Amino acid sequence: MTRRIFIAGNWKMNLNLASALDLVAGLKEEAASATRVDIAVCPSSLYVQPIAAALKGTNIGVGTQNAYFEREGAFTGEISMAMLCDVGCQYVILGHSERRNILGESSEQVNLKTHAALAAGLTPIVCVGELLKEREAGQTENVVRRQFDGSFSGVSAEDMKKCVIAYEPVWAIGTGKVATPDQAEEVHLAIRGMIEKNYDKNVAEAVRIQYGGSVNDKNAKEILAKPNVDGALVGGASLKVESFMGIIRSA
Ligand code: PEP
Repeated sequence: MTRRIFIAGNWKMNLNLASALDLVAGLKEEAASATRVDIAVCPSSLYVQPIAAALKGTNIGVGTQNAYFEREGAFTGEISMAMLCDVGCQYVILGHSERRNILGESSEQVNLKTHAALAAGLTPIVCVGELLKEREAGQTENVVRRQFDGSFSGVSAEDMKKCVIAYEPVWAIGTGKVATPDQAEEVHLAIRGMIEKNYDKNVAEAVRIQYGGSVNDKNAKEILAKPNVDGALVGGASLKVESFMGIIRSA
């Protein structure tokens, strides 16, 4: 099975509307010829609508970085998956380590959100990854397995195939300390094994697993060359046309 490479930019809480529109104006021209790669940008929810409008008819999709799991009702300050779909959103990043570690989001909450995203027709990009102290204690696979089992509990095989997993070692995010291609491949292979154990080989071969953590236009090629690395979730380097396009070209 050949999985299409998927490069997504996580803009986090960066850019204002004018600079976000400038960025996508540059990207859409440069990315038009990148037909063998799936591409998405994930702005703040507030900017999903204008960015989706600016990217309409291009090969760049739009996602966001979080949403609430309830469909509607008295949940002050929250945004539902359906509202995001309504304004052109296609992807939602769930369980990013900044949400798990700063905001205390648990795998149980990620699981509710994963189900809600799938029900609304959004593609969840579910993040998993260990802290440095967990890696040093030899706990990487156990931590990732717990996050994987918790986040995808009750997800059917058909829905699982629609999900994207981002392996993001927390120690590599925003630190400039990228995992080696072999370190990434080892965990990606383990994650594929987890999918096969909970589902079957067919599902395991279908799911795309991105690597995230200090990916840039210089290191992307080697990481993306690994057989179980199906793309990248990119933070800092997705905020500039040249660096994000450099990663897309490496793919
Ligand atoms: C991220 O936050 O998802 C990420 C991978 O960030 P960076 O590329 O900046 O390490």
